[in-house]
Amino acid sequence: MEFVGELPITSSADVAAVTRCARQAQAEWQTTSFEHRAKLLRRFRDLLIDNQERLADIVTSETGKPRGDVFGNELFYVCDAIGFWTKSAEKWLKQRKIRPHLFKVKKVFSIYQPLGLVGIISPWNFPLVLTAGDAMPALMAGNAVIIKPSELTPFTALFVAELAQKTGFPDNLLQVVIGGAETGEALIDNVDMISFTGSVEVGKYVMHRAADRLIPISLELGGKDPMIVLKDADLERAANACVWGALMNCGQVCTSIERVYVEEPIYQTFVGNVVDRVRQLRQGPSAEEVELGSMSSEEQLKKVIAQIDDAVNKGAKVLTGGRPNASLPGLYYEPTVLVDVTHDMSVIQDETFGPVIPIMKVKNADEALRLANDSRYGLDAIVFSRDGVKARQMAQRLFTGTVCINDGLVNYIIPEAPMGGVKDSGFSRRHGPEGIRKFCYQKTIVIDRFGLKKEMPWFPSNRKKTAQMRRMISLLWRSGWRNKLARPGNSPSKSEA
Ligand code: NAD
Repeated sequence: MEFVGELPITSSADVAAVTRCARQAQAEWQTTSFEHRAKLLRRFRDLLIDNQERLADIVTSETGKPRGDVFGNELFYVCDAIGFWTKSAEKWLKQRKIRPHLFKVKKVFSIYQPLGLVGIISPWNFPLVLTAGDAMPALMAGNAVIIKPSELTPFTALFVAELAQKTGFPDNLLQVVIGGAETGEALIDNVDMISFTGSVEVGKYVMHRAADRLIPISLELGGKDPMIVLKDADLERAANACVWGALMNCGQVCTSIERVYVEEPIYQTFVGNVVDRVRQLRQGPSAEEVELGSMSSEEQLKKVIAQIDDAVNKGAKVLTGGRPNASLPGLYYEPTVLVDVTHDMSVIQDETFGPVIPIMKVKNADEALRLANDSRYGLDAIVFSRDGVKARQMAQRLFTGTVCINDGLVNYIIPEAPMGGVKDSGFSRRHGPEGIRKFCYQKTIVIDRFGLKKEMPWFPSNRKKTAQMRRMISLLWRSGWRNKLARPGNSPSKSEA
């Protein structure tokens, strides 16, 4: 582990001051056209690309991930997301005409307007994707943004702010505040919306705190994603997907494959295929020729060690890995395959966020489904089968926000498709129309067409009006044509008139 640097913490008073400046910038920004915003976002992307080597230095130094991952997973996503949001923001936020089914005499519109100041609180596992990536739709929608990156990875976010300043955005439109819980709390207390990505425990707290001010929040939380491999699956593709999906970024991905359920007839072959591939992976410092880097923090490493210890003590068998990598100094944990795991083990119940693949044998697809749904999380799930109909039926029965069939980890990079969780994985959606509308409030505008001096329900009240209303209700909604005629017995009493 190396010392990367230290930074002063942004105090609560300073957070409040930063938000005041951001509000001034937002007042100007929200009056600009989508075209203008898009032009500046594309300029920001050019700066990112021009400075990609420096970016890679920063990200690798504060996360321990291989350099290739910075280009392949972080920069690629953000560049594509910028292209996507600049093209689709206007389409999804444009004024929509509403045709009332009854009140035809009214003209009705719905518009999306920026919430104002968006606070982004982000984790450490993808310091570019989860800061700049999330800021882009918020900016396109006309908001100012303040990012509070993880205290473990502040330098990438500061670099993003530095490039934003060179881009030509209004001063203070995109700013970064530094610190842990206290700075995060000050941000919640000062912004108009919080976009939080992180752990379930902190997410619940954030929701609680935001409730005091009744500001909207989005919560993208942890996962314990199951992979189901049915007996008719393409076993080679399934093994490759499993190893990539479980071990990319050292397993420190919210949608990592964290447990695998394999049908009995193919269990041995599948496990053999996975172990062979895992043994071939190279691990080391941030070169481009290694597949696995180190864990990003000591705390995370300790969590993985504790889960493996718990599993082994309860009877799990380690087929490969299962210990810190003794040949490398620092926070390296060997990629690990575990079998004979059960649902009373922490490695199956709790998010691991490490390079671990626990595999369970199941009798059939129903058992796999039951076990896959036996989790407090519900982010993503993966089904491998050559039977497309069956795989889609299983997808329907999985209680998760997304499902990949014969694929893995791909949902995050399709920005047209809403992505998010259920249960303890949160309830918001990134990407798709929801991924930008969440940074707006929806306003409905109703316009009178004919300019009558008075509408029927307006004051004063009288018996005749009430009788007309009763007749109208019968005509409109009483079932059967005979009943549509108001009955004499239904005439209003004096007291009602
Ligand atoms: P974390 O919850 O510990 O921290 C997340 C952020 O919250 C950090 O910036 C932290 O400083 C801040 N924070 C901590 N206490 C706070 C408080 N009281 N008030 C306001 N902010 C506070 O999470 P982490 O360890 O940084 O990240 C790992 C977690 O993130 C995993 O559970 C992972 O699954 C999840 N994650 C989810 C997604 C997704 O899209 N669903 C993506 C990436 C990571």
